[in-house]
Amino acid sequence: MNLPAKFVKVKCTDCENEQIIFGNASTVVKCLVCGRTLAEPKGGKAEIKSPIVEVLE
Ligand SMILES: [Zn+2]
Repeated sequence: MNLPAKFVKVKCTDCENEQIIFGNASTVVKCLVCGRTLAEPKGGKAEIKSPIVEVLE
C-alpha cells in the first residue's frame, strides 16, 4: 500500500505496539518493541506492512 508523504500511525501485528512512521520512509522501519518490519521503501515510497490505525495530517 502506497501513501502520500505524511505521517501514519500503524499497529504492529505481532506485539500491538502503536508507532508513528513517515508514509514516505526511505529506509526500512521496524517495530521499536519487537523488531518486526512495519514499512519498507518501494519505488520511492514506503510500503506499509502493518494495519494503519490513523493518518496524521
Ligand atoms: Zn512489534
